Amino acid sequence: MLIESLVRSTLGVKDHRVVKVEGDLGGLVVKLERQRRHKLPCSGCGGRAKVYDRLAERSWRHVPLWGIPMTLVYRPCRVRCPVCRIKVEKLPWAEGKGRLTTPLVIVLATWARLLSLDVVAKLFGVSWPTVGAAVQRAVAYGLAHRGTEGALYIGVDEISRKKGHVYHTQVYDLSRKRLLWSGEGRGQETLERFFAEWGEERTKKITAICCDMWDPYVEVIREKAPGAMLVFDKFHLVRHLLEAVNEVRKEEARELKQKEPQLLKGTKYIWLKNPWNLTPKQRARLGRLERLNLKINRAYLLKEAFQEVWSFVYPLCARRYLQKWFWWATHSRLKPMRDFAWLLRRHEDDILNWFKVPISNGSVEAMNNNAKAISHRSRGFRSEKWFSTIMLHCMGQLPMPEFVHKFA
Ligand SMILES: [Zn+2]
Repeated sequence: MLIESLVRSTLGVKDHRVVKVEGDLGGLVVKLERQRRHKLPCSGCGGRAKVYDRLAERSWRHVPLWGIPMTLVYRPCRVRCPVCRIKVEKLPWAEGKGRLTTPLVIVLATWARLLSLDVVAKLFGVSWPTVGAAVQRAVAYGLAHRGTEGALYIGVDEISRKKGHVYHTQVYDLSRKRLLWSGEGRGQETLERFFAEWGEERTKKITAICCDMWDPYVEVIREKAPGAMLVFDKFHLVRHLLEAVNEVRKEEARELKQKEPQLLKGTKYIWLKNPWNLTPKQRARLGRLERLNLKINRAYLLKEAFQEVWSFVYPLCARRYLQKWFWWATHSRLKPMRDFAWLLRRHEDDILNWFKVPISNGSVEAMNNNAKAISHRSRGFRSEKWFSTIMLHCMGQLPMPEFVHKFA
């Protein structure tokens, strides 16, 4: 009798009772029956109503006990609800047409935040589509119950999957460091889909959006969220700058290939790193190279000078500084640096918006790394929908369904 009462109390049922538990180590079947004379809650409105008739027997996969698979079996009732008319009763252990009990959904989904689906499936003796279904249920619940009021600062970024063949646009809530949305592609259409799903009401509340100087995104943001301030991400900006510096180095190394092939060999990171991060050896080499009037040294000085722009307090001073820097860069006779300077010029206002709302995608970088790890361990689930689901599950800080007894 002990096992029956354990099942009943962990399920927290009041209108149902456990009739019997049968089976063996290969699997246990728990038969449930309704308490006679109890009115049952209606699945439409939750109000209690009289039983009208019974449906055919159904079974639900439940949390395994000591590694033994558990199945619940019950014939659901239909109730005659004064509001919704004939409706199926609302079952306390499962929702809708799902074939997993709510506790099993919670248990599988909880573990799927930490482990790959294959491992979770093995641990609980279920198939991986079952784990996938549990995750989908948990995410559907989480999306319906998450609070989005605080999502005022938003960061848009992209990540690649399938070894860089497919891009995903990720939309982050920068204040709470959580993922809000993920969709395949990195074009206009992708970001438009986000705004369509996010809806006008919530979009109006967005104060600022941080992203790379990527024209498709910029156009959509200006059109769909005209009230939000666009702030170009300073980390992306620095990345563009470093690419330009590296370009100068490569060109110069090519020119020097005949005369002095060793001169710039192995110096890539000497030019790209921040000076205070150099090793003593690198610092000494930089000191020697600096005396040689190299192109890469001019690019290096430009790079170092550019970083100063963030130290200004007033946007006006920063603007003046940027303009000086622009003149210097455009007269440097270094094409990559000139191109970068023109990129700045085109987006100057949005870059300087950082001084009004100092947001950046710095924290996004860590989240993107996390996303890559999740993507890696979710190999085999390559559809867009699945990828977005698992991303939201692991990084969306979504609330989980709750249950009377904590199975996990
Ligand atoms: Zn009802």
